[in-house]
Amino acid sequence: NRQIAVAELPTGTLTEANFALEKAIMPTPKDNEVLLRTILMSIDAANRSWMQGATYRAAVKAGDAMPTYSICEVVESKSDRFSAGDIVATESVWADYVVCPARQLQKLPDMAPLSNLMSVYGIAGKTAFHGLVGVGKPIAGETVLVSAAAGSVGGYVGQIAKALGCRVVGIAGGPDKCASVVQDLGFDACVDYQDPGLFKALKAACPNGVDIYFDNVGGKVLETALFHMNERGRVVCCGAISQYDTNNATGPRNLPGLVVVKRLRMEGFIVMDFADQDATALRALKHWVSTGQIKVQEDIVEGLENAPSALIGLLAGRNRGKLMVRVSAD
Ligand code: NDP
Repeated sequence: NRQIAVAELPTGTLTEANFALEKAIMPTPKDNEVLLRTILMSIDAANRSWMQGATYRAAVKAGDAMPTYSICEVVESKSDRFSAGDIVATESVWADYVVCPARQLQKLPDMAPLSNLMSVYGIAGKTAFHGLVGVGKPIAGETVLVSAAAGSVGGYVGQIAKALGCRVVGIAGGPDKCASVVQDLGFDACVDYQDPGLFKALKAACPNGVDIYFDNVGGKVLETALFHMNERGRVVCCGAISQYDTNNATGPRNLPGLVVVKRLRMEGFIVMDFADQDATALRALKHWVSTGQIKVQEDIVEGLENAPSALIGLLAGRNRGKLMVRVSAD
């Protein structure tokens, strides 16, 4: 058995030196526990934010195995609720094998490919649906702006907003990503935040202003987007990836000024808040996948040992769609 631990907490940009691949003992389950073989691990911007201190969960400390959300197969069960061969989702760590309490496991439907349960039917799709529909409450004809548009959550937000009849504008890093957001994901336009002309480009791409800004990045992009909001617009605060991998966080300077003047509503959410709406989200997502209105983009990196470079790559914008690591076969 192998695991990846946090060797040292980062003080600035995350590097491979912050992690250590270790040999681990093969754990044995006690009563009401199960032994799991990791199949897929979700690589999330949140992995980096947990290293900054306590959030909606405890902070990750030096020496800890890196926490993750995983899809696993039950190898051995000491619980009457699970049997060998069951496929489950769980909070876990970066490791080949783990033992988990049965109460924290969620049995997954038998579906191929399993990776869809981590992308469109997993955290990414649910976060996009609940944030946009539950918090943003879009109305057909409105303009929806979304950052990290070529990423996993952002890509689904835009496609869902299109399916709901909105005009959709993305923000992404670099001309290639922006072109792919329009051509492959069907956004109406996409602007490059790395271009110094972001303000003007947003104005041109959103001639009627912005009714909903779905913010995945925070910082300067949020500051610029606020200037383009329409009166009584909604800002859905999903994450702040521009602030996670730095010790130099920069908040928008136009807060709360523009929120007051434009009567904006800014509201944060965590995907779990909407667990009681998951069935509705999954029904809608399945429908849009079946009609081709949602394309599923997955970025699967092979091998447990490559998890640190995958996370570093996500923070540097090297992923297209939902990033995950395959640890073993389905
Ligand atoms: P993504 O697949 O969107 O990948 C992250 C993307 O962020 C990168 O591809 C990169 O694209 C972009 N990015 C990186 N650094 C910056 C920067 N400094 N400024 C602007 N963009 C940047 O990751 P996720 O889908 O996992 O996460 C997206 C967001 O959703 C995160 O903020 C995350 O914390 C949040 N989230 C929130 C949840 C909730 O419950 N509230 C649940 C899950 C995720 P580019 O090349 O365009 O820069």
